[in-house]
Amino acid sequence: MNSKLETRKSKLRMNAWETIIGLEIHAQLSTESKIFCGCSTRFGDTPNENTCPVCLGLPGALPVLNRRAVELGARAALALGLHVNSESVFSRKNYFYPDLPKGYQISQYDKPFSANGELEIMTAERDEAGHPVEWKAKKVAITRLHLEEDAGKNVHEGLPDVDRYSYIDLNRAGTPLAEIVTEPDFRTSWEAYDYVNHVRRALQWVGASEADMEKGNLRCEANVSVRRIGDEKFGTKVELKNLNSVRFMQRAIEFEVTRQIGVLESGGKLQQETRLWDERAGETRVMRSKEEAHDYRYFPEPDLPPLKVSEEFVERVRATMPELPEARRRRFMEQYDLSFSDASQLTAERSLADYYEKAAEVSGNPRTAANWIRTELLRALEHAGLSASESPVSPEDLGALLRLIEEGKISGKQGKEVLIEMFASGKSATAIIAEQGLVQVSDTGEIDSIIDAVIAASPQQLEQYRAGKETLFGFFVGQVMKASKGKANPKVVNERLKTKLQGS
Ligand SMILES: [Zn+2]
Repeated sequence: MNSKLETRKSKLRMNAWETIIGLEIHAQLSTESKIFCGCSTRFGDTPNENTCPVCLGLPGALPVLNRRAVELGARAALALGLHVNSESVFSRKNYFYPDLPKGYQISQYDKPFSANGELEIMTAERDEAGHPVEWKAKKVAITRLHLEEDAGKNVHEGLPDVDRYSYIDLNRAGTPLAEIVTEPDFRTSWEAYDYVNHVRRALQWVGASEADMEKGNLRCEANVSVRRIGDEKFGTKVELKNLNSVRFMQRAIEFEVTRQIGVLESGGKLQQETRLWDERAGETRVMRSKEEAHDYRYFPEPDLPPLKVSEEFVERVRATMPELPEARRRRFMEQYDLSFSDASQLTAERSLADYYEKAAEVSGNPRTAANWIRTELLRALEHAGLSASESPVSPEDLGALLRLIEEGKISGKQGKEVLIEMFASGKSATAIIAEQGLVQVSDTGEIDSIIDAVIAASPQQLEQYRAGKETLFGFFVGQVMKASKGKANPKVVNERLKTKLQGS
């Protein structure tokens, strides 16, 4: 936690205020070509290589809608539980900016792709360290989801004479976006945080967008205001930009709420403005005031007919959708008897959920599989910087390892070492166990003879144990395990020792 912020908060009557937050998300749809032309959307190509008369805005060039962008837009809408309108209209949003050569952006205005939806998310209050305390469901009203084109990019860094010139790269101009706008329904920065994570995962899950904030293919803006508890009227709102991760957004909102309450409690007035988050300084700064706000003069795009989406089209898209993350989490809880937090962690990504289900099936013990994946496997993956789909240990191999432990062929402790070796070498559990001679001895005859030898060698301890010093039991277990070089099955050792020490 930012201690400077905490000190400022402590001087304010934070409890007397209510925070109001609305969010706008721009998600880049994962098409191979742009929304109104055939140019590639590939990232990192030579500047201005992926352009044509349409996305350069040359006179007379005509846009043609990319069907795949509509499909992915529908996937995004369905993943968020939204309805797709049977007719929507593209409009020109007029403004001048150097990276927008047409002088307008093709977007949607009064007839968007989807509108008036409701999304249920899980959200948690957090403790001081930001750890969830208790999860609860929350409904968020989605004002709209519409389709539009992205603008290009102004480049001010890393090129010759940047102090005298601005550079413009139009490779990104015309990349398809889904803009998702909520009502001002969030009351804390953590609710906003949980919502953006929900949307991000849903879009990734169904393949509508990579939704990676660090790469910029998911961008987020927050409208933040405060009002005294009991007031009906909304306060003056401030728009926050430059939020390059979900955590930055949460911190920016937290800072902004404290700043606004500070201004109002000291008798000041807030300006309607856009502010940028500066992560290094941990504060927001004014970018522009709303006096410069644009009148976009929207009008229907004359070069594109209204977008008609039939019910059959939507149903075809729906039929290709995977089971959604929330549904899968609920099913994991019921089918595999997992806790909410275990099931949530295992459905954080689709590849991880797939991995878990396969491992659970092969292992024959879904709860053990969940424990091993949540601890041993995820630790190794995180350490190696890999996702579940990139794991060097396949779910089948992990399941097979767990089965060997379950059957008592090796101990759980040996299993952990075997898993590390599997991770490093890519070999199967059986191969490693054979190589290292890691066999757990469960044969009672063999274990009995070790126990007899240990007891015969420790007459003094035996006498004390039989006289009532039961803590010596651990000593005998240790001796037997040592004599077996750690290979004896601890469960069998415990059972047999108890019988033998009692003298039977
Ligand atoms: Zn183009």
